Amino acid sequence: MRRGLVLVVSAPSGAGKTTLCQRLLATDHQISFSISYTTRKPRPGERHGVDYFFVDEETFQRMVDQGAFLEWARVHDHFYGTAQEQVEEVLKSGRDVLLDIDVQGALQVREKLGQDAVLVFILPPSLEELERRLRARGTEDERTLKRRLSVAREEIAKATEFDYLVLNDDLEEAFDHFYAVLKAERQRTFRRPDLLARFS
Ligand code: 5GP
Repeated sequence: MRRGLVLVVSAPSGAGKTTLCQRLLATDHQISFSISYTTRKPRPGERHGVDYFFVDEETFQRMVDQGAFLEWARVHDHFYGTAQEQVEEVLKSGRDVLLDIDVQGALQVREKLGQDAVLVFILPPSLEELERRLRARGTEDERTLKRRLSVAREEIAKATEFDYLVLNDDLEEAFDHFYAVLKAERQRTFRRPDLLARFS
């Protein structure tokens, strides 16, 4: 059986990460989304056990103490974490796992999983375009918007630690590049002992 991989995707907010991840999940059925735990409240339309597992701080802290998280981080005043068990179960079944997490979390996954993780950073065309997209969303006040832009600058500075960059200028092209990374990574020699085993 092929050895599963963990595709970790990070991006500044507004870079189009969610759209790319949703499209990947709709296109490829060998990869599953890891549903994170979070202490933030659900937004309208979000469902427990689908978008996130929404828990209180006490529950989250207990899980941290129990070592239940592969990684966890505080992002914009809330806690977010990836359950170790969930990821392991999917990998064991020979499937891949998609993690949509922030940069701090991505670097923790790299530390823990090494080559089993593939880190992809989604870049907006420019900071000006990112600001334009965030304003067009119209969901944030001026202070929050400025804060998000300054966090975006810090995150982009850490993109050098990722394995791949995908520039999201044109969505079609960005998706092609994103999917190409997954397809190529699946064929890495160390992930396909099953292919060579046919000849031994
Ligand atoms: P949102 O609250 O908008 O859904 O997500 C805010 C940020 O938290 C996003 O950058 C998202 O990728 C990140 N995030 C979601 N789940 C996790 C997680 O399990 N761990 C970490 N480190 N970040 C996460």
